[in-house]
Amino acid sequence: MSNKLVLVLNCGSSSLKFAVINANNGDEIISGLAECFNLPDARMKWNISGKKDAAHLPPNSAHAEAISYIVEEIIKNEQGLAEQFVAVGHRVVHGGEKFTESVVITPDVCKSIKECASLAPLHNPAAIMGIKAARAAFPELPQVAVFDTAFHQTMPASAFLYALPYHLYKEKGIRRYGMHGTSHLFVSREAARLLDKPLAETNVITAHLGNGGSVCAVKNGKCVDTSMGMTPLAGLVMGTRCGDIDPSIIEHLVAREGYSPAGVMDILQKQSGLLGISGVSSDFRDIQSACEKGNEQAILARDIFCYRLAKYIAGYAVPLGRIDALVFTGGIGENSAMVRDKVLNLLSVFGYQVDSEKNETTILGKKGTITTENSPTAMVIPTNEEWVIAQDSASLVSA
Ligand code: AMP
Repeated sequence: MSNKLVLVLNCGSSSLKFAVINANNGDEIISGLAECFNLPDARMKWNISGKKDAAHLPPNSAHAEAISYIVEEIIKNEQGLAEQFVAVGHRVVHGGEKFTESVVITPDVCKSIKECASLAPLHNPAAIMGIKAARAAFPELPQVAVFDTAFHQTMPASAFLYALPYHLYKEKGIRRYGMHGTSHLFVSREAARLLDKPLAETNVITAHLGNGGSVCAVKNGKCVDTSMGMTPLAGLVMGTRCGDIDPSIIEHLVAREGYSPAGVMDILQKQSGLLGISGVSSDFRDIQSACEKGNEQAILARDIFCYRLAKYIAGYAVPLGRIDALVFTGGIGENSAMVRDKVLNLLSVFGYQVDSEKNETTILGKKGTITTENSPTAMVIPTNEEWVIAQDSASLVSA
């Protein structure tokens, strides 16, 4: 089978992650990160087949300069690589209700991505910049958009509607959309494979626990509920995001405590979560080592994190009825035996029993079951969003 290489771009507002992926088998040929856009020390680091390298970009570089560096200085130096490219695949955060699956990018698709920008004001404009720059660099290659929200578009109205006046949904699009869809899709498919069951008959709960975090109920292979909302702020306790709170807290802080609305949003998005409770860090590795030293605020942050997560998981028994597996993924889900152990113990009402040895050793990219033989199944599956983007891109362009 000939290689089908896809350049995968994930554009943030001030950074860009990139990878060259073989869509046939998920092999990562190049991966890298350009960061500090629009600042004097804009820079890039990358990895080609395990060999690391780094460079400064011209001061104040952004998406266009970064993509041109990737093409001219990295890809062109690898003989015969660019000739194997079949597409450029873009991660796009918000597809609103318009996009229920990945699409080949046309001028109309670009227009719709721009229209969804009010729902993701930092991310969607960055994706548009990435699309323009990639089109300039590879005018002959098809470009594909893969949406973080698309997998969640199968949610029923009972799960995606807020109990607000209905016209706010119909006229303004205020509803739950959910994020991390590409990751939930990948690990739910992988779980069905590991369970040796047809996807269309498999019910799983997937917990993507990274810097941001969300849980998803997947019934017969399709999303029926998820914890993030109209934006990524809702649901679980995250690195710096608060997750669910009483919305009246916002009014209270503004009207009675003298905070500005923007100041409150900054608190909810950047000063809350693990960082806000612990005062230690938003990074779970720091929380974990502070817990081991007996830091009480860190222990509290970890416990609130696990308790909220366990409550969400338990709640998803309602739409699923039968749970074939609970899946942990993302940096914390793939590596923190501590979190997995605590969460499964909080869920003992379902009969979960952790296999301590399997739990401790299933880290650093390993996958597998971490519960005992008599327990309902919980497993760890490393996510691979880039491979989904590469697969979708390659199959759309060959169709
Ligand atoms: P992600 O956004 O998926 O890259 O995940 C980032 C989060 O995973 C951060 O909170 C990291 O501290 C956490 N993480 C990464 N490696 C580990 C580890 N070995 N143990 C615990 N947490 C980890």
